[in-house]
Amino acid sequence: MKPADDKDNVSGMGCGEGGRNDIVVIGGGIAGMTASLALASLGHKVALIEKSDKLGGRAGRLGTMLPQMLRCSEIIGPMVFRVLGDRNIKVLLSSEISSIGRDDSGHFVEMDNGRRETGSAIIIATGLDTVPAGAVPEYGHGLRKGVMTLEELEERIASGGPLSDEVPRAIVFVQCVGSRTERRGVPYCSALCCANAIKNALLLKREDPGRDVTVLYIDIRTTGKGQEELYREARRSGVRFIRGQPSLVTEREGRLLVCGENTLLRELYELPADLVVLATGLRQPPSNLLLMDELEIAEGTTGFPLAFGSHTTAEGVFLAGSVKGPMDMPTAERDARACALDVHEHLVKGPRTASP
Ligand SMILES: Cc1cc2nc3c(=O)[nH]c(=O)nc-3n(C[C@H](O)[C@H](O)[C@H](O)COP(=O)(O)OP(=O)(O)OC[C@H]3O[C@@H](n4cnc5c(N)ncnc54)[C@H](O)[C@@H]3O)c2cc1C
Repeated sequence: MKPADDKDNVSGMGCGEGGRNDIVVIGGGIAGMTASLALASLGHKVALIEKSDKLGGRAGRLGTMLPQMLRCSEIIGPMVFRVLGDRNIKVLLSSEISSIGRDDSGHFVEMDNGRRETGSAIIIATGLDTVPAGAVPEYGHGLRKGVMTLEELEERIASGGPLSDEVPRAIVFVQCVGSRTERRGVPYCSALCCANAIKNALLLKREDPGRDVTVLYIDIRTTGKGQEELYREARRSGVRFIRGQPSLVTEREGRLLVCGENTLLRELYELPADLVVLATGLRQPPSNLLLMDELEIAEGTTGFPLAFGSHTTAEGVFLAGSVKGPMDMPTAERDARACALDVHEHLVKGPRTASP
């Protein structure tokens, strides 16, 4: 296996050269890697462009994966190893796209380091973003110590670092922060947050059953495989679920205080907490909007690109994984395999007219 070159962050065939490929894949998360591996196994030459300095995407930074509760690194690590070792895949790390489009040579991607890659098809697998927690300022993210997002909690658990200065005894999860709102975030359900909060609530409770763990929700939506069972297990283990988002996270006597209304019992609550975890919504990253613009891809109703399976409204441009909208890892992987098949068909048989 040839590791990524430290100097120019390129690995795989044709290292160090810009050049002609069959496909250019943008985004080295689980979807981009899966599509690259599938196409490489069919004999196609792939250039995989990743803006950060490592492959793996969001899943590479998470701790424990639902529903099997496996370490994410156990799933991502071997996949990264296979990608870096595949002779048909050229990996370009730390590569910011400066220009993307179509000319006589097909699709081209130019990067700020001066490289240019071309291909007969492009796959966009750039994932999604979280709504900034500052969208709901009364929850005090960035202002009050002990208030963090669900993603920040996952990253701390994954890195094995302490969750806070003191060992947290009382932890409150707040759901739908910047989700299902017309004014301060995105209007749709972000689909993953309920199960993710439950997963982490359960892990914290398992680690120390004496902990006071509460989830504040609008509705609990656990539709994925194994998620309802996890929800049941969390309730059995003593995680408390209260319907009603808080109106304020404040401080009293040196501790956080979460205030709101239990909308089932019609009672006000005040919950002292050492840690408040905000499950922020998921949205199309602003940088994707730029890509969509340059590639002339139409936008769907939720701001994500309009997709017909993997096809977009631009010929030869395909989508894989959560760039289409919130989805878990197994779904992103399946979606990327389906995308690879569509791209293979496009390369072998030529373009097909996109149909709704
Ligand atoms: C807090 C949280 C917890 C989660 N927990 C679970 C779980 O337990 N189980 C589960 O199945 N799923 C979970 N998920 C969902 C999981 O993270 C996604 O399903 C998965 O990451 C989707 O993979 P992807 O490749 O589509 O996108 P990503 O993982 O986001 O990868 C996209 C990649 O594209 C790169 N990129 C973006 N823009 C560009 C650009 N312009 N140029 C080059 N590269 C670019 C990014 O750097 C990134 O590496 C969780 C999500 C969150 C937010």
